[in-house]
Parts: sequence; structure tokens; C-alpha cells
Amino acid sequence: NETHTSLIMIFGATGDLAKRKLYPSLFHLYRKGKLADKFAIIGTARSPWTHEEFRANVKDSVLTALGSNEQIDDFASHFYYQPHDVTDSESYIKLRNLAGELDSKYELQGNRIFYLAMAPEFFGTIADHLKSDGLTETEGFKRLIIEKPFGHDLESAEKLNAQIRQSFAEEEIYRIDHYLGKAMVQNIEVIRFANAFFEPLWNHRYISNIQITSSEKLGVEERARYYEKSGALRDMVQNHMLQMVALLAMEPPIRLSTDEIRSEKVKVFRALRPIEGEEVNNYFVRGQYGPGSIDGEKVEGYRNELNVDPQSNTETFVAGKLMIDNFRWAGVPFYIRTGKRMTAKSTKIVVQFKDIPMNLYKNNHDQLNPNLLVIHIQPDEGITLHLNAKKSGQNMQTNPVKLNFSNEGSNGINTPEAYEKLLYDCLQGDATNFTHWDEVALSWRFVDKISEVWENTTSSTFPNYSSGSMGPDDADKLVEKDGFFWWNVT
Ligand code: NAD
Repeated sequence: NETHTSLIMIFGATGDLAKRKLYPSLFHLYRKGKLADKFAIIGTARSPWTHEEFRANVKDSVLTALGSNEQIDDFASHFYYQPHDVTDSESYIKLRNLAGELDSKYELQGNRIFYLAMAPEFFGTIADHLKSDGLTETEGFKRLIIEKPFGHDLESAEKLNAQIRQSFAEEEIYRIDHYLGKAMVQNIEVIRFANAFFEPLWNHRYISNIQITSSEKLGVEERARYYEKSGALRDMVQNHMLQMVALLAMEPPIRLSTDEIRSEKVKVFRALRPIEGEEVNNYFVRGQYGPGSIDGEKVEGYRNELNVDPQSNTETFVAGKLMIDNFRWAGVPFYIRTGKRMTAKSTKIVVQFKDIPMNLYKNNHDQLNPNLLVIHIQPDEGITLHLNAKKSGQNMQTNPVKLNFSNEGSNGINTPEAYEKLLYDCLQGDATNFTHWDEVALSWRFVDKISEVWENTTSSTFPNYSSGSMGPDDADKLVEKDGFFWWNVT
């Protein structure tokens, strides 16, 4: 239970992410003794707040998220605020002075984490100023945490990367993918590499296909300005979905170090079959939600949402079939599916095993169900194994049974858990659960080929799924033409 010492500077301290996720996560770390007393936070944003106003806001956000007030005053006393204009050197010089003062006051050993919780167009500018205005000159460590999206395509990502690499080395850059902070995503590795009955079967001989679904009930909300230019492919597939694919498909690393794990993930991206041109229609399906109903309530279609073009060609749903062309996975489709305004809010992985060689029970007209391993990522966390067992009674009839493991402690409340883990990792200097530049570049290269086709052809069928459904019919056909179907299992 190590404690850590650092100054953490949050750029965008009045924003939504800071309020809903960062302050509650920091409070958890504080309560668990992982921040000790030797830490300080400087929040910056445009609003002309005082330290006191900032502290009141931090307290408020912790109370709203966690309903806890023990130690909250001590915790909030470590917070300082500095009104800031991200393009103005004078602001950074003030910040540098404040950082120096807090460094001596809290004995921070010159350790600095810079958390960019702001719109991505500012990432490069802030990184530049941190160096040119002397904030990165420090005795201790310096680390940059950077939020998504990392670029809009490969070209812009390369440009941004080149820019921030002027101020930070690759090992100092922590690119957030908050899915990698989720307990069950981290568990994929443990399930695979710590269990004798999974790893030997984890290949094309025994697995028929893998399905990853990440569905949301929410629509675009107030994010249309960003989302109209992004769409589900960039917003979800380039990062979260492909990261889950990489963890499921990678070879066992020779040890659990950051470099070894990341290099195995990179190999998966390199083996990913590129889908381009006319092939895109055979492998990918796009969708956009129309009106419909969610939990019995009528909702508008995407094109009627605030700030959305009434003719919008932006996809709010993507289904795809990915092929990983290596010895382990030859011939095994990885189906992915993600979208807004779907039936349920849920992220889960279904691993479908191949059928056994023959069915001895068919005389009873028993259909044997394939074995499934279901990994529940959110909101439920756990693992379910679908097996066939004997029905009770005299006959040798079969009966599908489920073995269930539910992760304790995740009782459905929206905890700041993922951010807490990731912040702690960064404090420890562990970048395993952040994305390396090579992963970002390869996943953009894959996704760019698909967006190119979609952006050059206006969909004539949008909107093509009703709110509250599981997406367009074509997403079902994508899987059915291979002889499979989407498992909507619990
Ligand atoms: P937000 O719009 O709520 O907050 C932006 C912050 O930046 C505010 O504090 C604002 O004052 C500050 N700011 C804006 N322009 C500024 C300027 N010129 N100078 C100084 N400060 C300025 O945004 P958010 O939702 O908190 O998102 C921040 C980042 O986190 C984005 O990259 C977003 O994609 C990412 N993100 C957010 C969430 C979330 O749950 N909100 C989830 C995942 C990723």
C-alpha cells in the first residue's frame, strides 16, 4: 500500500470530466492513503475562481458522487486554483511560480503530473507551453496524461504526437483509454493467462468466433458538435473496441511488464486484416438511430437532436467483422458492435467455442448449445460460463446451465473506479494500461480506410435503426452470413 507524492495540475478543472470523474477518484485515493499528505492539486481553467471557490466545487463534486464527507476538508485543502489562458505565456509563468511554492510547502520532490482534461485542440499548445515556459524543468518526474480523442485520423494524430514529443518522451506520455481502467477489461488478461482451461483452447482450433458489444441507451446528448465530426467509428472503435480486441487476441507476454504487454498488443494490430475500398461493405455496417422508445419513453431520432445536421451522414452505430491473420486466429471472426440509443447500456464479450465432434444426445431431440464464455465489463462485472449438463430425473437429457461469477464491489453504482485505477497507475509510473503511440497509429491506420469509404458515400438508408433496438438489420446479416448470430446472453 504505497503512498505517492506529486503535484497534479489539471487543465480544464471546471469541466465535466474533472467534476464527475477526477475529483471523486482523487478523493478515493486520498482516503485509501495512496496520496498521503504530500500531494497538491492545481486546477486551471478560464473562470476567474479563487482557491476557496475551487475547493467548494471540489467538495461538492465529491459529495455528489460519493456522498461522503469524512476527511473532505483536509482533502480539499490541497487544492489550488489558477485562472488560466492556455495560449498565454504569462499564465504559465504564474503557474510555474505557484508550482514552485507548493513543491516546497508539501515536499513534492519536484514530481509533476499534467492532466489535460480539455478539448483536444489545446493538447499540443499546452504541451508546447509547459516546456517553453519552464514547467517541465523539474527535479522529479514529469508525466503528461492526455484525454481522448488522440487525433481525428492518422495524419492529425501524427502531428499531435510529434508536437507533444517535443516536450515529453514517449514513456512520459499517458494516453487515457478509460476502458483499460475497467476492472473486467484488466481481468481479460488474468482469465486468459492464469487459467489452465482457457489458454490451451484460446485459438482457432476451439474458438468459433468472438463477439464484443458495447451499447448505450443514451443518444448524442449535448455532444453533437464533436460527435457530428467524429461518429461511432472514431469515438468508440478506434480506441475502446480495438483495445479489447487486442487484449483478447494477443499472445501471452513473456512477463507482465509494460513493454512486453504493449508489444504483444501492437502485434495484434499489425496482424489485423486491413479492410478497404469495396471490401468495407462486406466487413462493416454503419447505422444511425431514428426515433423510437427507450424504457417506454419516446425519443427523437439523431437528425432531430440539437446541433445535428438534418441530413447528417454521421454513424451512431458500427458493426464490424475483424480478421486477425496469424497462426492463432486464422479464420476466427471477431465481431464488434457499438452504438447509441440501443436496447441496453452494456459492454460484454462473448467467446463462442466450437461444437464438440458429435452430439450423443440428439435421440432425445436435445440440441446442444455451444459453450460460451461471457465476460461482463459494465454495468455488471463478472464472468459467465454456459455449459451443458444433465437434467435432473431418470433420462439422460441435457440442460443448459450457467456458472456465474460476479465481481464484488461494483454494485451498479457509477463509481469513478476506472479513473482511480489509471491515476494511481500514473502516480506509480506504470503505463501498461495506457495506449502506446504505436497502438494509436496502427488503429488509426485501420479505421481511416473505413471512414474514407463512409465519408465519400452518403448513406441512402439513414436513419436505419429505431431507438431502443439492437441496431440495423444489416448488423445481424453480417454475422448470419457466416452462419452465426449475435448472442444476447446474460
Ligand atoms: P468541458 O467542456 O466540460 O471542460 C473543458 C474545460 O476546459 C473547462 O474547465 C474550461 O474552462 C476549460 N477551457 C476551455 N477552453 C479554455 C481555454 N482557452 N483556456 C483555459 N481553459 C479552457 O469538457 P470535458 O467533458 O470535461 O472533457 C475534457 C476532455 O476529456 C476532452 O478531451 C474529452 O473528450 C475528454 N473526455 C471527457 C469525458 C467526460 O465524461 N466528460 C469522458 C471521456 C473523455
